[in-house]
Amino acid sequence: MAKNPWKEVADIILSHGATRVRKVDPRQVPTGEWVRLKCQFGCGGYGQCLTCPPHAPTPEETRKLLDDYSTGFLIYWGHEAGGRKALAEIERQVFLKGWYKAFALGSGPCELCRECDLEWPCNHPSQARPSMEACGIDVFQTARDAGFPIQVVTCHEDVPNFYSLLLVE
Ligand code: SF4
Repeated sequence: MAKNPWKEVADIILSHGATRVRKVDPRQVPTGEWVRLKCQFGCGGYGQCLTCPPHAPTPEETRKLLDDYSTGFLIYWGHEAGGRKALAEIERQVFLKGWYKAFALGSGPCELCRECDLEWPCNHPSQARPSMEACGIDVFQTARDAGFPIQVVTCHEDVPNFYSLLLVE
C-alpha cells in the first residue's frame, strides 16, 4: 500500500477525467425512500435497464451497503457524465491496489448498450454499475455536503452537474 493511499486513489480518479474529488464518510451519505419515488413516478427510464429501479438496490439496501464502508470518494465529473467505462476502470484500478471492497456507483441510466434487453445476465457485468440516484442516494444533499455545485435543472439552458461515488475499503 502506498505511503498516502488516499492520494493514490484520488489520483486514479482524476486521471480518468474527473474534475474534482472529495473523500467522504459513506455513513453520512444520505439515502431516502423519496428518491425511489422520483424514479418510479416521473422518470421515463424506470424499469428500462438492469441498473435502474426496480432492478437496482432499494434505498434500504443501499443504506446497509453504505454503512458497510468506512471510506468513499465523491467524484465530480463537471457538466458531462464520466461514463461507466471510465468509472469501471477506476474501480478496477483501485481494486488492484488492494482495496478489495472497491465498488462504484455512477449517474443516470446505463449507456453501455443501445437498448438494455432487461435479461440477466447483463451484457457488460464488469462495467454496468447502478447510479447513485437509482440506489436511493440523495445526490443533491451529498454534493452540497461535500461543497460541490448542484442545482435543479429547470430548462435546456441550465447545465447539469454529474457525480459518482466510489466506495473503498
Ligand atoms: S450493460 Fe447493457 S445489458 Fe447491462 S445494464 Fe447496461 S444496458 Fe443493460
